[in-house]
Amino acid sequence: MSDWKLEDFAVPEVPDKDRFHDFALPDPLMRAIAELGYEYCTPIQSKALPFALSDYDVTGQAQTGTGKTAAFLIAALTRFWEEPLQDAPRPGCPRALILAPTRELALQIEGDAKSLSKYMPERTVCVVGGMDFQKQIDKLNKKPVDLLVATPGRLIDFLDRNIVSLKSVEVLVIDEADRMLDMGFIPDVRRIVFQTPHKRQRQTLFFSATFNDDVMRLAQSWTIDAEHIVIEPEHVATDTVEQKFWMIGRDEKDQALRSLCLHEDTERAIIFANRRDQTHRLMKYLRDHNVPCEALAGDIPQRKRLATLNRFKDGDLKYLVATDVAGRGIHVDGVSHVINYELPEDPEDYVHRIGRTGRAGASGVSISFVSEDDAFNLPPIEQYLGIKVDCSMPDIELSAKE
Ligand code: AMP
Repeated sequence: MSDWKLEDFAVPEVPDKDRFHDFALPDPLMRAIAELGYEYCTPIQSKALPFALSDYDVTGQAQTGTGKTAAFLIAALTRFWEEPLQDAPRPGCPRALILAPTRELALQIEGDAKSLSKYMPERTVCVVGGMDFQKQIDKLNKKPVDLLVATPGRLIDFLDRNIVSLKSVEVLVIDEADRMLDMGFIPDVRRIVFQTPHKRQRQTLFFSATFNDDVMRLAQSWTIDAEHIVIEPEHVATDTVEQKFWMIGRDEKDQALRSLCLHEDTERAIIFANRRDQTHRLMKYLRDHNVPCEALAGDIPQRKRLATLNRFKDGDLKYLVATDVAGRGIHVDGVSHVINYELPEDPEDYVHRIGRTGRAGASGVSISFVSEDDAFNLPPIEQYLGIKVDCSMPDIELSAKE
């Protein structure tokens, strides 16, 4: 523990906000929280932690960007600290299982788990499809694992080969249940949940951005007397993001994008396009005009996508052109701008896009280009947000036409 003391992490009490200090968390966990720069709990942490830390099941309606990952990880790590294992742990028998629908999300969770447990003995392993199978096996066979983060398909593979056993799971986390449903993973998830101890013998924390009847049914069958928590989606999107809509001709968009990227206020930006071919075209266009950028789309190999994401996260890469599907996996703080080169067809995608900036309380700007080609996507967005938006002319100088 070296010489770190809780007093080194001074956060003043503020009305209507909870501090992590208010939950009597283990010192090594507090040290990691301090290092991550978290001071006050986000709303979902304030609402979920009192229940999750008291061993209650929780069902949470919350999107990414709300801080839900830290909420469930803090609960699991605190439990492990307070109830150390009596017997020697066996390899492949995690105490917590976290299921996520995509590799990107699973890898994000793994990263958060490693940061939060930096000063604790707990070990995290992530098993996801599309990445080196043997390496993941070696990681599991080498040493006992405490937190296992997994996508359903790959985990089933490991269960079938008896590399993982879920008999010792004390905390089961199901993240983004609605997407698991949409992606057809529920039969796999059911098989997995069935291999964990009975719901009376485990704690289940269940999260979903939306709760329709199907999601509700799953939540009810996998949890017991759960505390249901709702974090309004508008909270994520609109509070910390300044939304601008620029009226712009189809032929002026490229030029406007280039000017925007080169503008001094644009520190780090994600540019969204509706289709993969468009992301590749924009990447080429920007590079040809001395704007170094990378594309993030489904047809780019996984390894390259991860390398790109890491460079973006580390600040080595300032501009990223992404599709909606690829963009959902991006949880990076410090994104100053989201640029919608085109308006998405689905208003929910709009909210997800702009939620890539203004994360964790920081402020951000989203700029949406509205042209004759996609202006008809605006009314559904207005309806979804419950606001009428003002379209304006671009408020920066556009660079000269070629
Ligand atoms: P998530 O919703 O789990 O994807 O978290 C969104 C982002 O918020 C992550 O980058 C976290 O590092 C960050 N975060 C989580 N909790 C806090 C907090 N209490 N204060 C500041 N940032 C946080």
